[in-house]
Amino acid sequence: MSFALHGIAVAHGIAIGRAHLFSQTSLEVTHYVVLPEQRAAEIQRFDEALHHVTHELKGLEQQIPPGAPPEMAAFLQLHRMILKDDTLARMPKQRIQDQGCNAEWALKQQVDSLIAQFEQMEDPYLRQRRDDIWQVGERLLKVLMGQPAPNLPPHGEAADSILVAHDISPADMVLFKQHPFQSFITDMGGATSHTSILARSLGIPSVVALHHAWKMIREGEILIVDGMAGVVIVNPDSQILAEYRLRQELWHLERQKLKRLRSTRATTLDGTPIELLANIEMPEDMDAVKKSGARGIGLFRTEFLFMNRHDLPGEEEQFHAYRQVAEAMRGLPVTIRTLDIGADKPVEPSGIASTLNPALGLRAIRYCLAEPQLFSTQIRAILRASHFGQVQLLIPMLSSRHELLQTLDLVEQAKVDLRAEGIPFNDRLPLGGMVEVPAAALALPLFLDKLDFFSIGTNDLIQYTLAIDRTDDAVAHLFDPLHPAVLLLISHTIRTAHKAGKPIAVCGEMAGNSAMTRLLLGFGLREFSMHPAHLPEVKQAILKTSLADLQAPIKRILATYDPTKLEESVTRLNA
Ligand code: PEP
Ligand code: MG
Repeated sequence: MSFALHGIAVAHGIAIGRAHLFSQTSLEVTHYVVLPEQRAAEIQRFDEALHHVTHELKGLEQQIPPGAPPEMAAFLQLHRMILKDDTLARMPKQRIQDQGCNAEWALKQQVDSLIAQFEQMEDPYLRQRRDDIWQVGERLLKVLMGQPAPNLPPHGEAADSILVAHDISPADMVLFKQHPFQSFITDMGGATSHTSILARSLGIPSVVALHHAWKMIREGEILIVDGMAGVVIVNPDSQILAEYRLRQELWHLERQKLKRLRSTRATTLDGTPIELLANIEMPEDMDAVKKSGARGIGLFRTEFLFMNRHDLPGEEEQFHAYRQVAEAMRGLPVTIRTLDIGADKPVEPSGIASTLNPALGLRAIRYCLAEPQLFSTQIRAILRASHFGQVQLLIPMLSSRHELLQTLDLVEQAKVDLRAEGIPFNDRLPLGGMVEVPAAALALPLFLDKLDFFSIGTNDLIQYTLAIDRTDDAVAHLFDPLHPAVLLLISHTIRTAHKAGKPIAVCGEMAGNSAMTRLLLGFGLREFSMHPAHLPEVKQAILKTSLADLQAPIKRILATYDPTKLEESVTRLNA
């Protein structure tokens, strides 16, 4: 029987292959009573499993292949920390001792109770860490049940297989790097889960958050994974299969063609040059930037330097990271965004109390202004790096003039201090503001006289305009870049900035979506910043566009409020 499952698309492409079910030990746990005289031996069996997994994770850390995403080691270390925690290392033993549960059952009960606690957490990032607990528990169970190695297909067959898992841990991902599948799909996961982060960096088509795929799909069934639409088709009929084979082929051909565009300048058919810039999270992303042909960094999300650690990076560490990127770009612009933490990007130890609406709370610039010492350290590091390249500083989530003035004071103070210390920096460091809050979009003149450039963060602008939590699966279907309110805000912001003679870019996901390229060009956008992987596709859309042809349809689009008509108009615009 053929059927389709819908989830969240996390990495692009189309895969067609046979399902390989990744074993789910926790769903097959046995339950028996251990007699009092055998409990010490049962506890020892549990301890041995703990030992085994700790050793296994350490071994996997050594095997991380060069070029693997930097998060991989951090996630493995996090799993080792979870293993050491009393809640996993000691509590199950207590259950064996007090209740006579066998080790597997004691562990399963403990993992279930921990997961239930995590699921109640307000903070979406912490809530998603339940996946890590589950993954560590699963690994321990496998050892206890005598199946320590994941059930991977033979080497030659993996390349044709699509891995179907309830969840995949970062530790398993290390194995997949050496044993490449053509795709994987999981029941668990969300936009900020570790699995999704890693899937993106591995670049294989994948869909997560399918909820029941593992239970509904059988070993060996034919699957189509559409990593663009977030759809998995199980047992497709021959007609669908033929259509997807064609789409897959076209997709590969397109990729090959796109690679050749690397050194082509992005210019419209009527000769207008468009700047295509890259978004990065760590200096390690620079390899991908170089391959993409980006003409600069439009967004360096510096908060990633602060994640997966227990301390804060100091001025020297930050300075080296920023300088490394500035030098690597050899005179091209490098836009360093100041720390945007809070909400879905918590950092330890931030001291941000958990609140009911973290996205509306002490986030980004609000947090930095509440922690002037931490903020000044970052400003100093950015200023120092500005001596080594064309660095610019970008302020996230501005909503009031007061925030901007306070930030400018801190920048001025940092300059005075650096001057006094004889440390070189670019005195004319360009300062920019992110337009992510509707208030900023509607009242841009609040900032126009004080800033040199702007960048629209469409991810947050959509979240705040439509009141849709961008991390919440339950409302993900309402997250609509084509909502008329969103389009009006974006076009208005671009027009206002240009009228004032200030450059403006878009650096949210919309900039990397080639289906939005003409729309944004029609709004007057001339700078796009995106994940390097999306750059060739957007460049191709630009190369095929005549700006003159966009004027009339864009006018109509901005006057359309019917969602179906709007979507049709955008499709026609892209035809
Ligand atoms: C945005 O909000 O669009 C943006 C680019 O910032 P981030 O995704 O890091 O919040
Ligand atoms: Mg944002």
